[in-house]
Amino acid sequence: MSYHASSKRYDEMQYRFCGRSGLKLPLLSMGLWHNFGDTTSLARQREMVHTAFDLGITHFDLANNYGPPYGSAETNFGRILKEDLRPYRDELIISSKAGWDMWPGPYGQGGGSRKYVLASLDQSLQRLGLDYVDIFYSHRFDPETPLEETMSALATAVQQGKALYVGVSSYSPAKTAEAAQLLRDWKVPCLIHQPSYNMFNRWIEDGLLDTLEQEGMGCITFTALAQGLLSDKYLNGVPQDSRINREGGGSLQQAHLSPENLARVRALNEIAKTRGQSLAQMALAWVLRDPRVTTTLIGASSPAQIRENVAALQRLDFTTEELAAIDEQAKE
Ligand code: NDP
Repeated sequence: MSYHASSKRYDEMQYRFCGRSGLKLPLLSMGLWHNFGDTTSLARQREMVHTAFDLGITHFDLANNYGPPYGSAETNFGRILKEDLRPYRDELIISSKAGWDMWPGPYGQGGGSRKYVLASLDQSLQRLGLDYVDIFYSHRFDPETPLEETMSALATAVQQGKALYVGVSSYSPAKTAEAAQLLRDWKVPCLIHQPSYNMFNRWIEDGLLDTLEQEGMGCITFTALAQGLLSDKYLNGVPQDSRINREGGGSLQQAHLSPENLARVRALNEIAKTRGQSLAQMALAWVLRDPRVTTTLIGASSPAQIRENVAALQRLDFTTEELAAIDEQAKE
């Protein structure tokens, strides 16, 4: 059955400008790190992509090595694009990244060499079946490669028309400012930074957000739910179908479910209830409370999780008392 996007897809979603660029991103963006490899059925992946787009999520975030196996998330999403989303290409922002290990030998082991970055982008475009990605990232800072070389590769990607915008992920504030300056020299703005951020992990508040504001860059945060820990799913044991039990379960481990952590999560869950939200919803609203955060990525293993997460947008404001109560439970 062919897919027709919902005619209501833009009714509820909100969009923010990405830094001082002209590009708007939805407050929630869909991340394909987990559950889009070959270990998840294509039917399930389709359902999740359709659900997201029908709710106004126009941004889909990938990387060369998302799977398992590496590359398969791009291949699978490429197939969904071709078969279902082709008429909507100009309504979509599709991103990919290069930075971590990808193929054998000295040129595929990740990092930031021009050789690796540009070859990886070509491979990603082939898997996705696209002429260009909307955003292409350096996935990590590589201390063994001159930053000028990595940024020159990003600038080339734009000049060749293979990426509309570029960004960096998990760069320190100082390296972010340096990267932005280098790109400016090539007249290519650095659109966006992709850092981790959630109630338990607040490193971006120590300088990165200020740097992004100064540079006019947007911010797309990842692991707002601490990979599922910031939800009610682990409060009564570990559900069979959760990430922690799956092969390639990311960095979420049993150790994160310590009695101390679970007590904090339980207390946060009570605060969320007083707001009329689930904890997952409150965790998403919390990262979006700072307007310098353009959008937050969500990972999901079911369409129901996507629907629940989008409903977080119905209550984004926080009282001072709520923020203080959250800090008491969650701040290190
Ligand atoms: P999240 O913190 O969003 O965790 C997602 C997981 O949380 C889901 O897989 C699901 O777990 C659980 N979950 C989601 N919604 C709910 C809900 N409503 N109730 C209960 N549980 C829920 O982060 P991810 O680790 O998935 O990362 C999101 C995206 O960020 C990635 O896909 C990727 O695009 C990006 N990313 C980028 C990185 C980088 O270096 N640039 C690094 C990591 C991520 P379960 O599967 O157990 O159901």
